[in-house]
Amino acid sequence: MIAAPAAVAQDTFVQEMSGPGEATALSPEQWTNARTQHYELPAPDSRLTITTNTAAVEECAAVANVVVQSMAFVRNATGLDLRGDIQLYVMEFEQVPEFYRFEAQVPSGRGIIEVRFVALERGESMVGSPAMSRFLFETLPHELGHDALSRIPCIRKGTLESARWFEEGVSEVLAHRFTAQFGPNRGSGFKHTSSSRHEVGVVTVDDLYNWDHEKRLPASVEVDLYAHSFRAVDQITSMVPLPSLLRELALEKDCVRLTERILRRAGLSFAQLIDEPGLESPAR
Ligand SMILES: [Zn+2]
Repeated sequence: MIAAPAAVAQDTFVQEMSGPGEATALSPEQWTNARTQHYELPAPDSRLTITTNTAAVEECAAVANVVVQSMAFVRNATGLDLRGDIQLYVMEFEQVPEFYRFEAQVPSGRGIIEVRFVALERGESMVGSPAMSRFLFETLPHELGHDALSRIPCIRKGTLESARWFEEGVSEVLAHRFTAQFGPNRGSGFKHTSSSRHEVGVVTVDDLYNWDHEKRLPASVEVDLYAHSFRAVDQITSMVPLPSLLRELALEKDCVRLTERILRRAGLSFAQLIDEPGLESPAR
């Protein structure tokens, strides 16, 4: 009798570009010519793996450089012990499918903090492509922000109260500041700058305060909530440096009224934070 090999626990990673058309199913196994490169990240036990089918493997090093900068930046800007592996799949296509569902199996419990898929047109520069710019200067520093924040017990999922506006606001502030420092003109027109700002809809203080992970909201409302979260945290961090605020939150044992604690530390009220045109103060 032959024993079956012990199954390695896997997590399924899914990244979708969805829309009205049928999604093309994608998985790493279908690129038999893909090669894998490894790079050290500036944190203990942390490594970047890039799997790609593009010929320009030297461009991977340039991408890795920005990922290294991003991780160092988020560690420094938050003061939190961000660490872990990042797995990046960069695949080029004759024509990138408009709608797709990319699915990959990654070993669970191996300290992988981010898995991402970036699709390029064949022959497009890896580093300079709009898709890679979005990943490097919008998605990655934002997501690393969430990874860093998850080191704080009160913010980690499953605690009594999480303050989504604060989590998204910190992540957006990090992405914005990283881009300003390392990739000006690389983000796709950062949505919080006044010049590129879309027409702001009416978001109430209550909407922002009660924004949680479960509620599905129309995309236009979510965009406004992200923008206002960004501004709120930007303002808070002008009163109290982000690392000191996060250090205090990390020591917090009682996770109730997290929002109130953050505001008290900054000496601001919630209404003050978001009192701007386009925002309606709730009638109280
Ligand atoms: Zn987020």
